[in-house]
Amino acid sequence: MQYHFAYRPYCRRFRQPLHTSHGLWSDRQGILLQLTDSEGRVGKGEIAPIEWFGSESFDQAFRFCQQLPEQITSDTISSISDSLPACQFGFESAWESIGEDDSAKLTYPLTYSSLLPAGEVALSVWKPLWSQGSRTFKWKIGVAPLAEELQIFAQLKQTLPPAAQLRLDANAGLTWQEACTWLETADLHGIEFLEQPLPTNQFDQMLELSDRFQTPIALDESVATLQQMQQCHQQGWRGIFVVKAAIAGSPHRLREFCQTYQPDIVWSSVFETAIARHFIETRLMAALPPARAAGFGISHWFLDEVQQYH
Ligand SMILES: [Mg+2]
Repeated sequence: MQYHFAYRPYCRRFRQPLHTSHGLWSDRQGILLQLTDSEGRVGKGEIAPIEWFGSESFDQAFRFCQQLPEQITSDTISSISDSLPACQFGFESAWESIGEDDSAKLTYPLTYSSLLPAGEVALSVWKPLWSQGSRTFKWKIGVAPLAEELQIFAQLKQTLPPAAQLRLDANAGLTWQEACTWLETADLHGIEFLEQPLPTNQFDQMLELSDRFQTPIALDESVATLQQMQQCHQQGWRGIFVVKAAIAGSPHRLREFCQTYQPDIVWSSVFETAIARHFIETRLMAALPPARAAGFGISHWFLDEVQQYH
């Protein structure tokens, strides 16, 4: 079967640059895809790479689209290299969605976690999100000095309503000692989990941390792609996996992995648009047992909901 292939890049500006321990991120660039079969049925997909998180770059993805002919086949899609995981996701999801009714709805309610900015700003940002119904929040740590962050954390814990669930994300920015200090604090305060305390090359240390402390540890940077998830699982990881489906690679292989091993999952956004998100929610999350609150509470991070094309 041949499909007509069309694509267009988009660029969305963050309301404020995203401050992570990898540096500042100010624009989300991605590519929207459209496949049309011989009967005129359409499938939409999205490539939303994050190079600093281990996927291909936007430029690599864009060049990949540019060199493709206007007519492609399912072989073109299944032979996309593992070095282009965001492209694998984009094309495969477009292909799976061909002829799908756009209005497909979820059969169970999803809960979302809202991302709070690093630092003191978090102390006020949670309030409007709470009034809009958010009950799970994620706060970025490992950005400012430890003592300063512990102090803000104490204030945040004090101001958040008791029913609020808080998770911490270090983006691999802690030392062993800092991770231990955070986990002692987290154990005392009933934190939902600590995400990626240490760099990806310190897998054994993270295994040890998960033995030593009650607060669960979630791997994120360590498991950017499905291949890495499989490796960590083989090496004995039974903690949480943060799954950024849009950059993880082939969605059908991801679905198989999750169905086989039933890992403890937090679905997470890579600041994709509603196109990729709709696919993730209806074709991945809905096909698997309900997981923890998904890290999709991010629309307040963009200047507007409308994509700006260039
Ligand atoms: Mg993370």
